[in-house]
Amino acid sequence: MAALGQICPVCGGSSATEVFSLIGLPIAINAQVRPDEALSVGRGDMDLVVCRDCSQLYNRAFDPDASAYDSGYENSLHFSPRFRDHARSLASRLVADHALAGATVAEVGAGPGHFLTMLCEAGAARGFGFDPSYDPDRLGAPEHPAVTLSASLFPDDGSIPAKLAMSQHVLEHLEDPVGLLRSLRAAVATEPGGVVYSEVPNGEVMIDRCALWDLIYEHYSYFTPVSLGYAAARAGLSADAMTTMFDDQFLALESSVLDGDGSVAEPRGADVVDPLVERAVAFGEQARKRIAQARSEMARYLDVGPVALWGAGSKGRTYLNVVAPEGQIGAIIDVNPRKDGYGIPGVPGVIRRPESLREVRPATVLIANPVYTDEIKADLGELGLDASLRPLWGRSRA
Ligand SMILES: [Zn+2]
Repeated sequence: MAALGQICPVCGGSSATEVFSLIGLPIAINAQVRPDEALSVGRGDMDLVVCRDCSQLYNRAFDPDASAYDSGYENSLHFSPRFRDHARSLASRLVADHALAGATVAEVGAGPGHFLTMLCEAGAARGFGFDPSYDPDRLGAPEHPAVTLSASLFPDDGSIPAKLAMSQHVLEHLEDPVGLLRSLRAAVATEPGGVVYSEVPNGEVMIDRCALWDLIYEHYSYFTPVSLGYAAARAGLSADAMTTMFDDQFLALESSVLDGDGSVAEPRGADVVDPLVERAVAFGEQARKRIAQARSEMARYLDVGPVALWGAGSKGRTYLNVVAPEGQIGAIIDVNPRKDGYGIPGVPGVIRRPESLREVRPATVLIANPVYTDEIKADLGELGLDASLRPLWGRSRA
């Protein structure tokens, strides 16, 4: 196929500036692999660039054919109490703000339907979820009787009318995010007060905090508030409310249907886009330094005693692949019981439950996401452990 990465997935522009590259990342970093399969997974390169027309960051080396999801993909955050509280309050707010009581809601990338369940508990009448990776045998039936899940793609013809059509952490995976936004627009177009909710990782915060561990191959692109607003405009949607949440790591847009199909939408001017491009380039420079620094920190931690990594999500997995690919870390911990006993693509090691740290007695616990620091501190206290806690990157605004 034509080299996909030569054009921006949001605006279709072809002028981009290089940011940063990582060679040989596992293609499916969150795949459930057996420990003995972990080193033989498929790999791909990340050649991250920033679009000079709309500020979207994207991987010019991305191969969409390589990055297939299947039901062995495990990235649920719902085992963390902090994440569940966040999701529940978001669901309640969306139902209140958009008068969704008694309404139909629809979600693309719904997984096992956790968020649709929360929306129905908060008053929505029924929820329709679409997710090609949904496997009822593995994930079970929906938790709520009003939630229906399907392993098909979200319909693009408005055949599932809904007052809220939404996606969380889907657009950044897609070759054509504007196309999905158009499908979501079609679902709400006939509903008075219909709203499209789009949540993605916050690319602006990633570059400003040098959060390079957020980079994963599956994320074809990263949105800034500017590029997300422009993606919505191109899909015929307004940018009514742009918010950040979860320690600003997530970026969310609430949109309503505009007249017209968005084909005449113009990107924001250079005065808005150019500073973001400069910050993205600065991020690339910092990221290279940060990797060297993280490798020397690792050597120092290992001098003191065993090192554990808490959090086998995307951030922890990228960190292990870039900083400790030879299994230098003695324990990889996750609170999600569905990950227990599995390996991590690209590196040696086995994911264990927190209780396993009683045996490891780590001197240092690396925290993959600083948002969970308090939760982890409490869990270590309950286990009777006293380790030095180190976030993988320190600048949290929590
Ligand atoms: Zn662009």
